[in-house]
Formats: sequence, structure tokens, C-alpha cells
Amino acid sequence: MEMEVRSNLAGLTAEELHRVVSKLGEPAYRARQIFAAVHARRVRSFEEMTDLPKELRATLSEQVVVATLKLESRYVSIDGTRRYLFKTHDNRPVETVFIPQERRDTICFSSQSGCPLQCTFCLTAQLGLLRNLTAGEIVEQIIFALNDAYGVGVKPPRGTNLVGMGAGEPFLNFEELMKGIRIMKEPRGLHVVPNRVTVSTAGIVPRIRELATIPDRPHLAVSLAAPTDELRDELMPINKKWPLEELLSACREFEKSLKPNERMTFEYVMLAGVNDADEHARQLANLLNRHDLSAKVNLIPHNQAEPLPYHPSSAERVETFREILETKGVHAFVRKPRGRDILAACGQLAAQVTPIEVALS
Ligand code: SAH
Repeated sequence: MEMEVRSNLAGLTAEELHRVVSKLGEPAYRARQIFAAVHARRVRSFEEMTDLPKELRATLSEQVVVATLKLESRYVSIDGTRRYLFKTHDNRPVETVFIPQERRDTICFSSQSGCPLQCTFCLTAQLGLLRNLTAGEIVEQIIFALNDAYGVGVKPPRGTNLVGMGAGEPFLNFEELMKGIRIMKEPRGLHVVPNRVTVSTAGIVPRIRELATIPDRPHLAVSLAAPTDELRDELMPINKKWPLEELLSACREFEKSLKPNERMTFEYVMLAGVNDADEHARQLANLLNRHDLSAKVNLIPHNQAEPLPYHPSSAERVETFREILETKGVHAFVRKPRGRDILAACGQLAAQVTPIEVALS
């Protein structure tokens, strides 16, 4: 099993692939061909690597696998959003979401199967942590979604944003995450620019500090959900380990490392009657201002997640909340939910095979 994970082609850097190929006694250009086949032409089988001799394909297939994720189901929302539910070779669920947008499409990928954090408003928490995903499994999600959306190997017409906002806590799988992003960055491969990648964390402070020291890195988003430790302890238990003061000073540190035109983002899920009062908005603005943060805030109305005891704040409540933030100098935006009907929206990824509405009827 481990063997299979280690030798997933999609998870090898160009250098690692060179080593594998030269061990087989093959010339270096073969490694370049294979890398291009997997990442630029996005093929998912040896049969499709027709530029390689048959014997080489046979030898390779004894040592490495091209694709490990198996599609279990695919759902298409009325708004065009697509949710893919895969199984890993060891039968763990992995979910990926493709979100078509007017200006640029977005792929939301998962970093873990399940999630160890116990945010009370998120369905993924109910799975618990099944395991970390490998770099290869992260890269494969993007390859698969691109192929499904645009056709095998077809260049995305408008470039694509990648967001690490699917299942799992990316910063608890930091190395594989960063390796996956490094692989996807290769100009001879997927050629994703780091600038188009955003990774969201529930607040793993040491990794935020580490990210601040890495020059070529993804954008950062931090999920807040509450403006006080008292409330955040309750909604996001990770707050007990890294409370707001520590979290926000790490964010301040991170902001200092940004270029003048860059911003980090905070996400704030809006839960009716829980964290959406005027007072919460004032507390949130004061908190960010006190830490001298110029980050913007994305307000996310709660997505239905039966059996969780929450409801989304009304559109008026969200708007008033946003206005209070703006009045206090905090830029805030309301995020439009996508793919709710197929359980593809934020906090709904729980490896469900059938959407709840259908299951109940
Ligand atoms: N673990 C990381 C990555 C997941 S990102 C993190 O917490 O940042 C998923 C985003 O959706 C987070 O901002 C989370 O707070 C938000 N979210 C979770 N459940 C939600 C729900 N039911 N409705 C709306 N947003 C939700």
C-alpha cells in the first residue's frame, strides 16, 4: 500500500521523476516526456503515453502508477458547480469542487480525507481525520477536475484559481501540500502560478509563521468565525490551542511579509443568532484594527449542514454586519454560496453519496 503511495507519478517532482527514470537506465528526456504527459497533457494511463516505447511503459507500470484516485460519483449543481467524490487506493473519500465563474473558474481541493478539527458548524468534522492526502493525491484532484471541465489536456480558457478550502486542514499536512503546489507550478506541467492559489487555515499558528518566511507561496486565508475567544473556543476548538491574540499576531507577521498590493483574507461564517449581531461586527472590526491588520473579510452565510444546529444569517443581517465592518475601515465582502444543492458548498463536504434532499424524499 505504502509503495503505491510513494510511487504515484502525479506526486513526483520533475527531479524525483528524473531519478526514477535514470535508475531504469533511460535517458533524461524520457523523464521530461513522462512529466509532460502527466501534468501538461494530463493523461491518466500508460496506454495514452504513446510517445513512449511499449516496453518502457510496461517496465514503468511495474514501478509507478499514473492515477490512484477513482471517481466514485460526480454531481452537477443547477449553478454549474461540480462535485467529485473520489476514493483513494485505500478506500478513503476525497472531494473536489469545480466552480465555474464569469471571470475565472475555481477548483477547490481537499488536503486531507476527513478532518481532525472539530468546528461545530462544519460537516467535514463529522468524518474525523481519516488520513493526510499525499502530494500526488492533491495534484490528481486538479488534473481530474481540469480534464472534466475543459477536456483532457485542454488549456483552461481563462486560467484557473485553486483554493485549498475543501476537506481537511491544509496546514496539518503542510509538506505534502507545499510539495503538491510546487509540482503544479512547473512551467512544463500544469503551470499553475502561486499567485492563483489560496490556502485556508483554521489557524495553525506555527505554519502561518513559517509561510511568512517562504518567498514563493500561495495566498493565505484564515477562518475566524468569531471575534472573541469565548465564542471561538466554542465554535472552533482549535482556538484553545492558538487563541485569537496569538493567531492575529501571526497574521500581522504574515502581513508584514506581503508585497504592497497583496492582501490576506479572513473568512467569517455567518451563523444566525450566534455570531452575527452588530456587537460581533464591532468586536471583529476592533480586533482587526487593534492588530493593525489590513486584511479583507469574506462573509460566508452558513450552508445547510444537517444535523448541525445552525441556520444562515438573513441577507439583511449579513449586509448590516458588512456595513458595520466597512464603517470601521474593514473591507468586507459577501461570498455567494455555490453548489449548495449538491452538497458542494463550504462546510458541506462529508463524502455524501446522495444529496440530503434526495436521500430524505
Ligand atoms: N480547515 C481549513 C480549510 C477549510 S476552508 C479552514 O478551516 O480554513 C472551509 C471554509 O468554510 C472555512 O472558512 C470554514 O469556516 C467555512 N465553513 C465551514 N462550514 C461551513 C458551513 N456549513 N457554511 C459555510 N461555511 C462553512
